[in-house]
Formats: sequence, structure tokens, C-alpha cells
Amino acid sequence: METKKFTMQFIKDKWAKRPLIISGPCSAESEEQVIQTAIQLAETGVVDIFRAGIWKPRTRPGTFEGVGIRGLPWLQKARKISGLPVTVEVASAKQVEDAIQFEVDVLWIGARSAVNPLSVQDIANALKGTDVPVLIKNPLNPDIELWMGAVERIVKAGVKNIGLIHRGFSTFGNTEYRNAPMWHMAIEMKRRNPHLMMICDPSHICGRRDILQELSQKAIDLDFDGLMIESHIDPDKALSDAKQQITPQQLKKLIDSIKWRHESTSENSFNLALEKLREQINQIDDELMQLLSQRMKIADMIGEYKRNNNITILQPTRWNEILEKAGIKGKLLGLSEEFIQKYFDAVHIESINHQNKVMNS
Ligand code: PEP
Ligand code: MN
Repeated sequence: METKKFTMQFIKDKWAKRPLIISGPCSAESEEQVIQTAIQLAETGVVDIFRAGIWKPRTRPGTFEGVGIRGLPWLQKARKISGLPVTVEVASAKQVEDAIQFEVDVLWIGARSAVNPLSVQDIANALKGTDVPVLIKNPLNPDIELWMGAVERIVKAGVKNIGLIHRGFSTFGNTEYRNAPMWHMAIEMKRRNPHLMMICDPSHICGRRDILQELSQKAIDLDFDGLMIESHIDPDKALSDAKQQITPQQLKKLIDSIKWRHESTSENSFNLALEKLREQINQIDDELMQLLSQRMKIADMIGEYKRNNNITILQPTRWNEILEKAGIKGKLLGLSEEFIQKYFDAVHIESINHQNKVMNS
């Protein structure tokens, strides 16, 4: 492969590309694995930036925590050989300095750092006076102000090229996803920061490879500006996140299968904008249904409890309390009193029906 000259303009051109495709292993594991993955990804022709984690902030100790600084020369080599700019996750000022010293082109702040303003500030301090682009993942918990705060700290450090990565949110218990997408969080973040690009990380949302394509398409339908997808030359043998990684060839197939809706120029812009908004509404409606179903499952459990303890289904004082609070909250959220009343009545009736069934089963 030909060696490319990495001018700042080259990086900026890649950075400005829509959709921007970032791919590479969850973790750099060996020089061979890093270089081979980068070469194969460059050969697909669909990847703009090569990613690899060097310092891995893992939730539990005792798992693979990354190769550390000795992986940076591997990335530098992969960058030269493949011609792809590279990005790594940084979690401290020292890591920012080390990464920049080894010519890392783009930095990203992970979900476990984004939750901690002290970590983000430490990173921001080291970024002052540099012109390296920075991607900021959403924090683990669905707190939009925390995500905004991380962006503000990086903006204040003088960083010009900032992007956001939606990687889903931690939830308790087993769900279809490793991290709940909660699309409305990303949509609201985009609404607040229309000038920042929003990339989706389907790998960490899904946690498994079989639903990556579907989720990626959803993100593109919601007008995301790019995708960050983990890939590995031998995914099943990956030292971290093995279940969600795919080969460079599978990545190419996935990217080729995506319908890039915003590229179709035959439709007029009004129709396109409308379609995107409707897709957002569909997503939110889908999430509301899932939440309602969860709520009814809890009602079933309460029904069982009441049955076993011989307690009545209806407790008017409790229900009045709920209604009163909902009315006040609804007003604050811009929802009419009439709507809140109707909505809660409907939910209440359904809940009573569920409990009734359990009581009499
Ligand atoms: C990663 O990208 O490998 C990673 C650790 O992601 P996150 O911070 O989203 O968990
Ligand atoms: Mn990972």
C-alpha cells in the first residue's frame, strides 16, 4: 500500500466527510493484529479513520485492560502502511500527550470518562493549544447535561473540531441491547448542537454482531453523520468485546448494504426533512410502547403481591397522588392538563385490568 502524507488538510478532509466511517478493533492486541486489520480495512475502501483502544477502561478488573503505551508505535506504523488516519480513546492528560506525540490524528473520550467532569477537565487541559479533533461519547448514564458539560469543557479548551458519539446507555437487567439506544437522547443532543457531527456506535449499543446492520440503518435513517463500528481480523479471538466485532470484509458488506437516505437528490428537501422527523417520531413511539409494556409487567408483579397479601387493587389516595404530581410535571414539560388526564386514565385502566387478571388467576 502506498504511503500517504498526513497533512492537516488530509485529516480535515476525512473529518469533514459525511458519512464518516470509523472502524478498527476494540483493542490493539499485537502489532500484527493492528497492522493487518488496518490494511484490510483500507482495502475495503469504505473506512475513513482507523480506531483501536490502547488504554481500555473496563468495568470490571481482571479483564484485558489494553496494551498501554507500547501500542502507540503499532498504530503509527499502521497509519503509515494503510494510509488511514488513526483515533484512540484517551482518559487522562498524560494519555492525550502520549497519543499526540505518536501522531494520533483524532482522539475520543469514552463513556466511562464522559461521566466524570474531573477526567474530562484533565483531558481538556492537555488539549489546550493543540488542533487535534476530539470525539465525545455519551456518558454511561442518560444524563444529557453531563454530555453537554463534557462538550463545553472541550470547547473551552479551544478545540475546533468536535464530534459526538452515541453509544447507548447502561441499563439494569437483560435487554435486547448491551446499552439501551434511547434515541431521543441523541436526537435532543443533536438539536442542541446542530453544528456538531453526531456519529453512532452500533457496536457498543448492540453488544452482538447479528443486529449491527439493522441498528446502523436506523442511525442513518435518523440522520446521523457517521458510524463507528468495531472490527477485528479474527473477531471470536478478540481480547475484548469479541461478540460485537466483525471482520473488515463483513464491515464492507454492512456499509455497502446501508441506504444513505440523505444522498438521494431526486426527492425535494421538504419531503426529506419530513421523512426524517417522522422517523424520529416512530422511534420515540416505539420506545414509549416498550416502556408501557415494562410498566404493565410491574403492575402484574404488584397484582401478585396484593393477591398474596389480600389487599385491594384500587387505592384511591395513591392514584390521586400520582395524578397530582403528573399534572404539575406535565405543565412544566409543555403538556396540556387535559392530555395528561386522559393519558393517565388510559394507563390506569390498563394497569387495573392487568392486576385484575393476576388477582383472579
Ligand atoms: C470502546 O470504544 O471500545 C469503548 C470502551 O467504548 P465505550 O466508552 O463506549 O464503552
Ligand atoms: Mn469495545
